[in-house]
Amino acid sequence: MRFFSIASGSKGNCICIESGGVAVLIDAGVPSRRTVEALRCAGIAPDSVRGIFITHEHSDHVKCLPYVVRATKAPVFANMNTINALNLRAASDGCAFYELPTGREADMGELSLRSFRTSHDAAESVGYVVTDGRTRLAVCTDTGRMTKEAADAISGCRLVYIESNHDEEMLISGSYPAYLKDRILSSRGHLSNAESACYCRAFAESGAEHFILAHLSEENNTPELALSTVGGILAVGGVTVGKDCTLEAAGQHEPSRVYEI
Ligand SMILES: [Zn+2]
Ligand SMILES: [Zn+2]
Repeated sequence: MRFFSIASGSKGNCICIESGGVAVLIDAGVPSRRTVEALRCAGIAPDSVRGIFITHEHSDHVKCLPYVVRATKAPVFANMNTINALNLRAASDGCAFYELPTGREADMGELSLRSFRTSHDAAESVGYVVTDGRTRLAVCTDTGRMTKEAADAISGCRLVYIESNHDEEMLISGSYPAYLKDRILSSRGHLSNAESACYCRAFAESGAEHFILAHLSEENNTPELALSTVGGILAVGGVTVGKDCTLEAAGQHEPSRVYEI
C-alpha cells in the first residue's frame, strides 16, 4: 500500500492511497492540475482513482471537487449529512455522490476504507482507516479532540496522518480575532501540537511506525515547532524518531514523500 499527501492545510487538502493499481483520494481541496501532476509523479494514472472520499464539507477539503471528478471520473463517497451540506453546485457539476454511512466499510480493489467520527464544526466530519488486508493506516485531521471512536480506530495502524494544527501559545498571543481563537481551541476545532503529540505517543505504543503531522496552521505554527513538540513527547515515552518511527510534517503546498507500508 502506498500513501502520500498532495497538500495539507487551510489552503487545500488531498491525500492519495494506492494498492494493486487501484487508487483512492481523501478530499479534493487541491486544483485538479496539481492533483493530477502529483498522481503522475507517483506513477498513478488519473483513471486509476476509483473513489474520492470526503472528510467534511469545509472548502479547504472540497473546493476543487467538480474539477478533480472531471479529471479522474471517480465517484464521490461521503455520509449523508456531508452530502447534504455540500454545495449543490457540485452535484450539478457532474459529481456522482454515493452515501457511505459513518462506520461502514467501502471496498475498492485491494483497498478497504472505513470512516470514524471526528469532533469538528461540520455536519458529520470523519476520518478514515484504510487497509489493503495486510496493514492499516489512518487519516485524522480537523478534530478538536480525539474521539474514543477515532482513538480505537487508529490504534494498531502502522501509518498515522494526524492533525497538528497549532502551537497553543502562538495561537493565543497571535493576531486572530477572539471568536476564531475560541473556535480553533474548542472541542470542535483543531488539535494542537501538544495534543497531537500525546496521541502520537499512545499510537506509537500500539504499533505506529510512521507519523505525518498534518493541517499545520501557517499563522500559528511552524513545521519545526510541530516536529520538535511531537518528537520531544515521543522521546519522553521512550520512542526515538529515526529509530523507532519516522516523523514528517506534511507540506502545505507540496506533496509528501511516498510511503510504502
Ligand atoms: Zn480543514
Ligand atoms: Zn474543517
